[in-house]
Amino acid sequence: MQCSLFALPPELHLLILTHLPFPSRTHLSLTCTYFHTLIPRMTHTELLAAESTEFAVARDLYACRYCLRLRHSSEFGDRMLHKRRGRRGKAAGRRFCVECGLCPRGGGEARYGPGAMVVRGGVVYVVCRVCGRFGEVGEGDGHGSEVCRACFGGSEMDASRWKVAALRG
Ligand SMILES: [Zn+2]
Ligand SMILES: [Zn+2]
Repeated sequence: MQCSLFALPPELHLLILTHLPFPSRTHLSLTCTYFHTLIPRMTHTELLAAESTEFAVARDLYACRYCLRLRHSSEFGDRMLHKRRGRRGKAAGRRFCVECGLCPRGGGEARYGPGAMVVRGGVVYVVCRVCGRFGEVGEGDGHGSEVCRACFGGSEMDASRWKVAALRG
């Protein structure tokens, strides 16, 4: 079966591949360099359609408009996953992951700039106005401080812990 598939010319491979549904296409592109090179990356529209498949729902995957990947829900701010930005939501196409939100875009500012608060998994994070890192907010209620826990008055040990959290982003 596999031998006969490889015997076909690349144009035919491509033709067959474009008809493969998600996630088969993605899985095949990961099997070898040949298919990885041949199979085009999924477009944003395709990713948005893919996130509504049983496969993506079961694994809690959502599309990011910037890195053009399906990522686990834990990689997004909670507000990115509900209502208009939720699965099949009217604004699902505007959803982006935390990692992309922290990256400056096109020479401009990052979507999550200094002082920005992001609730992820029910925990409030902040882009710290003091150290610039992304970490858990310094105040229990998550309002007003706009600094991370380490800068808010934690010990040195705490600071290194938040640094790890920021890197994991
Ligand atoms: Zn992203
Ligand atoms: Zn800080």
